[in-house]
Amino acid sequence: MASARRGLVLLFTGNGKGKTTSALGIMMRAWGRDMKVVMLQFIKASHHRFGEHKAAQKMGVEIIPMGRGFTWLSHDLERDKAMARACWEEALKRICSGEYDIVVLDEITYPIRYGWLTTAEVIEALSRRPSHVHVVLTGRNAPQELVDYADLVTEMREIKHPYRHGVKAQPGLEY
Ligand code: ATP
Ligand code: MG
Repeated sequence: MASARRGLVLLFTGNGKGKTTSALGIMMRAWGRDMKVVMLQFIKASHHRFGEHKAAQKMGVEIIPMGRGFTWLSHDLERDKAMARACWEEALKRICSGEYDIVVLDEITYPIRYGWLTTAEVIEALSRRPSHVHVVLTGRNAPQELVDYADLVTEMREIKHPYRHGVKAQPGLEY
């Protein structure tokens, strides 16, 4: 079927490792083609300087951490919610501006799972984005409606993870 060229919605979900790094790989490819890319991070706290943030700075690419780390460490859920909403507002601005070729919303499934963001509003916003914009979504436990809506969905399935043997997160591999 012939159809107008349009941006796609990619969703990386599942419990196995590789969701965020897959999105970062796409960003690197696109950057190599001088495409404009941005990643907004719903969970990563702004004081964290992980390898990807250092790389992005060197590359002149924006990766914007707008979370507060993992919520189960938090004692202030209202504040977490407000930060997630702020991240979503920022994401909307970037997506709707049409300025970007690719917008990555990293760990967006968490605020959806917590009920801070509805699947319906996310889908509604994606539906009216400028037609050329690709959007990449990551996070575990993606809601079925989002799976149904996305053009491409990959589920990372954990077969083994060294965490199970007490191996801690490794620089370069995980952060
Ligand atoms: P990555 O950022 O490495 O691509 P991811 O985005 O698929 O991983 P997340 O669910 O965002 O994975 O988890 C963040 C980090 O936690 C990852 O670096 C991953 O290696 C690590 N991780 C994944 N599975 C487990 C697990 N079962 N227990 C502990 N840590 C895990
Ligand atoms: Mg991730």
